[in-house]
Amino acid sequence: MTDETFTPHGCHLIAGSWVDAEARFSSDPAHGPAHDFSVGTPDLVDRACVAAEEAFWTYGYSTRAERADFLEAIAEEIEKRGAKITEIGCSETGLPAARLEGERGRTTGQLRLFASHIRDGAYLDFRHDVALPERAPLPRPDLKMVQRPIGPVAVFGASNFPLAFSTAGGDTAAALAAGCPVVVKGHSAHPGTGEIVAEAIKGAIERTGVPAGVFSLIQGGKRDVGQALVQHPLIRAVGFTGSLAGGRALFDLCAARPEPIPFFGELGSVNPMFVLSHAAKARGREIGTGWAGSITMGAGQFCTNPGIAVIAAGEAGDTFVSAATEALKDVGAQVMLTDGIAQAYREGKSRFDGRNAVEPLLATESDGRSASPNLYQTDAATYMQDHALGEEVFGPLGLVIRVSDEAEMEELARNFEGQLTATMHLDDGDASQARKLLPILERKAGRVLVNGFPTGVEVADTMVHGGPYPASTNFGATSVGTLSIRRFLRPVCFQNLPDALLPSDFQSI
Ligand code: NAP
Repeated sequence: MTDETFTPHGCHLIAGSWVDAEARFSSDPAHGPAHDFSVGTPDLVDRACVAAEEAFWTYGYSTRAERADFLEAIAEEIEKRGAKITEIGCSETGLPAARLEGERGRTTGQLRLFASHIRDGAYLDFRHDVALPERAPLPRPDLKMVQRPIGPVAVFGASNFPLAFSTAGGDTAAALAAGCPVVVKGHSAHPGTGEIVAEAIKGAIERTGVPAGVFSLIQGGKRDVGQALVQHPLIRAVGFTGSLAGGRALFDLCAARPEPIPFFGELGSVNPMFVLSHAAKARGREIGTGWAGSITMGAGQFCTNPGIAVIAAGEAGDTFVSAATEALKDVGAQVMLTDGIAQAYREGKSRFDGRNAVEPLLATESDGRSASPNLYQTDAATYMQDHALGEEVFGPLGLVIRVSDEAEMEELARNFEGQLTATMHLDDGDASQARKLLPILERKAGRVLVNGFPTGVEVADTMVHGGPYPASTNFGATSVGTLSIRRFLRPVCFQNLPDALLPSDFQSI
């Protein structure tokens, strides 16, 4: 690679070839030049899906070592293009360079983690019931069970993670690790970033000799691309990260197919945070300041943004609220990922303005692609009656809900919909209240935290980034961490098969 600026050619990648199309759309960068990209079409989606299915007959039967080498090669090819990825990523999303660099490390780390995970082989959940030919009254056959890849997977990335939840992000890494070819629907907020990452994957395909149809990127431009992709008969599952509205529309299409397929949608969440009474008294100021930092990090554009804080009425709660308000006043306007997201933030904020029993603690105005923090306060009864107050506002907006006592805090906790995370701030004296809240929160969220903020999501074996609807469309799954590979696997039982016939994944386990 040279040090020249990266200029996207704007083509789709289909089975190893860059493919142009007549219609173009223009990117809308936060800064720097806009570029033209080919608009995706259902016909291009079909070509990519056919190539993915063809590749599956080889790739789905490759060895775990071959797939691990491929994943590591993708990580290396991404690193080779690191500076250019940061440059185009910053331009398209407005995110700072340090964030893009950190996210690149997370992306390559994820790919390498999956490489070592599949080399180890434990994820296959291999089981063997040895034949019992003498068993009475009936003999038992030899039974072996192993998790097998499901076939071509469609991936939709999110605007707020142009690398870690996009073209070569967690869904793609998990699917490729499992043995599933991937067709990515490029996000229209960062098409150039998608292109250069696809180029890195193409480089890895050429280096390792896996079939070219294992990966395709179809740029968007029009909604019919995503719709055609989830409805394509050769697609076996969908990994989606994005909004509740977009996710729900595509989920419904998957369910309405003649042959329905699983739609693993990771959607939005308000991530409630409960400040228990002893913690509020001892550390209200500190927790309030920390919360303000968490809801404004990255302009609040995190699915794990803890947008709602629950704390008792009274002096300790007032200290928390004034600390949060003061800290938020110091945070200026920040650039949002797209004009549309900035506009949606203002619309979300307008749901709180002038509403009965909802007090603005910090009300700001912003325009264009920027957003500044807003903070509101209400009581538990109002919140529980007004569904609109519980909908995610994607951006730096906080809502404090004041409760009258511990019983009302529990009642409120029961009232929340499914969440990616739920947090408790507690001290030693809060143990009995925490014991009552925990069983409620465990039923609501994929991850329950104590004395922290949920905005950082560790990529690890134990991570669960999912939760009951509407946090995700499949509460048994996670989109982050090694457990996410299970979404793209299916158990198959092999009865009385000679070893020579068994898939290569059985080797050395
Ligand atoms: P988005 O607007 O839903 O877009 C996601 C993708 O879906 C894009 O490729 C988009 O296409 C496509 N899409 C959306 N609606 C569609 C429809 N009706 N038909 C066909 N395709 C459709 O989400 P986003 O703005 O990128 O991301 C922000 C949201 O994601 C926030 O709500 C955030 O909380 C959530 N999020 C969740 C997680 C998680 O893990 N749970 C992580 C990050 C973000 P276009 O490119 O054409 O728009």
